[in-house]
Amino acid sequence: MPARCVRCASELAPTLLACPACGALVHGAELKELAAAATAATGAGDVTAALTAWRRALDLLPAQTRQHGEIASRVQALSRAIDAPAPATSPHAPSAHASSASAPSAHPTATVSKRGWKLGGGAAGAALLGLLGKGKLLLFGLTKLTTLGSMALAFGLYLTLWSWKFALGFVASIYVHEMGHVFALRRYGIAATAPMFIPGLGALVRLKQHPATVAEDANVGLAGPIWGLGAALAAFAVGLAGGGAIWTAIAQAAGLLNLFNLMPLGPLDGGRAFNALSRPQRYLMSMALIAAWLLTRNGVVLLVFFVALGRTFGAHAPEKPNWKIAVEYLVLVAALTYLAALPVPAAR
Ligand SMILES: [Zn+2]
Ligand SMILES: [Zn+2]
Repeated sequence: MPARCVRCASELAPTLLACPACGALVHGAELKELAAAATAATGAGDVTAALTAWRRALDLLPAQTRQHGEIASRVQALSRAIDAPAPATSPHAPSAHASSASAPSAHPTATVSKRGWKLGGGAAGAALLGLLGKGKLLLFGLTKLTTLGSMALAFGLYLTLWSWKFALGFVASIYVHEMGHVFALRRYGIAATAPMFIPGLGALVRLKQHPATVAEDANVGLAGPIWGLGAALAAFAVGLAGGGAIWTAIAQAAGLLNLFNLMPLGPLDGGRAFNALSRPQRYLMSMALIAAWLLTRNGVVLLVFFVALGRTFGAHAPEKPNWKIAVEYLVLVAALTYLAALPVPAAR
């Protein structure tokens, strides 16, 4: 049975967001619920839950409406509140924008107190709880059939090339990289798929909603290599502790793959990061890359350098620098080049 407008009873095509006859919102009831959920979440200091609800509301509103514009700017303000370091989240900048709208909006002070409990409280139990939460999320992707199936295919391919231990470690490091993206996306309340492996190429997470700001996109982009670096360092540590050459080989391969993803090109993680960097910052990144090449003579880092130099003098760059992204990128270049340049043990 076709859906009908609640106000004028006109028949509605399934993709319509507003009634063509009377202009009534098709998802009015759900939108009201989402607004109530977002307001409650904001009141409780849960910025991520508020963002999740507002982004879902954006999907249900026609793009040219006044409400759509209002909610879009609210999403941007909340996203900035998530990025801002705890002390800077004082009641000025981000909330001023959002609270102009009718519904009660961002309460950054609540965010501060929540973070204060997690970090400033210093209780080991709180830190442990946070870690457990991440661990649970790390397993979440494994409950999806697409992830498991494609993961098995990728494992099968790498198995024909290398030993099963190496294939397993390499696939696990790719999985951790992708879950870094998933974690960052969840933090911003952006709907996305579970990781999907592409045998021979890596894996990807598809977004169902657009990031609201360049900084948000850059943070989601670098979250992959940051988690990937964590996985590579863990393998490296096991190798150092006497786990055997296979662990060093896994650390080296994971380092190389994550380094490649720092290439500032199109949809690659490095491309998202560079969109948030000013021109002088891009120049600085290029200099760091060429220094990393001079120290290691690693071919991948040289390739990333040339692309970075192209982005420095190429198309438009933001005037405002983003130092969080710049520092993260520099640390990633240094650590990943080091791992990628490790002497490769013969047996894989
Ligand atoms: Zn109607
Ligand atoms: Zn990635």
